[in-house]
Amino acid sequence: MRKQIAAANWKMNCTYQQGEKLLDDILSARIPLKPGQLTIFAVPFPYLIMGSSEVADETNYFVAAQNCYHKKSGAYTGEVSAEMLHSMGIPYCIIGHSERREYFGETNKILAEKINLCLEFEITPIFCCGEPLPVRETGNQNTYVQEQLKESLFHLSDGDIQRLVIAYEPIWAIGTGKTASSDQAQEMHAHIRKVLSGHCGALVANNISILYGGSVKAANAGELFSCADVDGGLVGGASLNVEEFITIIKSLK
Ligand code: PEP
Repeated sequence: MRKQIAAANWKMNCTYQQGEKLLDDILSARIPLKPGQLTIFAVPFPYLIMGSSEVADETNYFVAAQNCYHKKSGAYTGEVSAEMLHSMGIPYCIIGHSERREYFGETNKILAEKINLCLEFEITPIFCCGEPLPVRETGNQNTYVQEQLKESLFHLSDGDIQRLVIAYEPIWAIGTGKTASSDQAQEMHAHIRKVLSGHCGALVANNISILYGGSVKAANAGELFSCADVDGGLVGGASLNVEEFITIIKSLK
């Protein structure tokens, strides 16, 4: 059974105190998660220890890093390695968010290196893929996403591919208030699963959680998550609002 996941991406938001309160408020709602349902908070690096201690006594709640560097260690001032995250017990890391691709020049090849390091240090990568608007407008989104998967993931063994979480995030839907329709999301998620299946077989592909990201909110989470190949969401803006995010968590199937 694939895991159903509500993943919050705080990005570069919240002071330390606001972040602590946000976590406290969400955890104190005591949302009854079923086995196989997870909530993950991708918090800024300096808040990882606080976040880890907040979720320490919870089952099914975890923290994640939003990024890590693509080199193992060394003279890379200001960067954080997968090994450092591992040494802090961080179980998840977002890799290849479109903002990192766009503003920090992260290529599919660099992302492949990050994926390798995460897996080496027992961190589950949440690998983001998704097309920009002009690609969607010309109907080439399937090929575009297939290339992202191929160039960053297809060097992995079947066993390693199965350790990933994928997040499909159409760039035109991130932070824009414009959500993909449930038909568009399901179509792309089925395509991603088919592409993965072509590489590592249906058995492995069927076990990989594929999250949808792009203006998920309380009002649309239920419909999106009910799609057969949508296994939850990666949520930016709405994850900063207690009531919104609680409803999103409750919408997991
Ligand atoms: C994201 O940051 O991954 C995201 C999907 O943002 P938003 O939910 O705000 O569109």
